[in-house]
Amino acid sequence: MPDRPSNRAKKRLVADGVRRLLDTPGWNPHDFVAGKAAERGAPALGATAATYSAADGCPACEAVRRSSGDLDALCEEHLAVALGFGR
Ligand SMILES: [Zn+2]
Repeated sequence: MPDRPSNRAKKRLVADGVRRLLDTPGWNPHDFVAGKAAERGAPALGATAATYSAADGCPACEAVRRSSGDLDALCEEHLAVALGFGR
């Protein structure tokens, strides 16, 4: 069967494909999972409680809560912190 690739050739093809995929921006599975979590607004573990207590008494958060009617709303800065993007 000269026109069928050997198992070793197939494995190399798969490895090359995976490596190419990992080199493609936005396709690294690790980044992909983290990006998805951030998209869903999943808070970074451990940051939430501290963020919400820091947001208590934040005038910007208070203004967002009052205007949106959402008692858990956060201002841009505290939202970024809750999502793990803040400082
Ligand atoms: Zn705030």
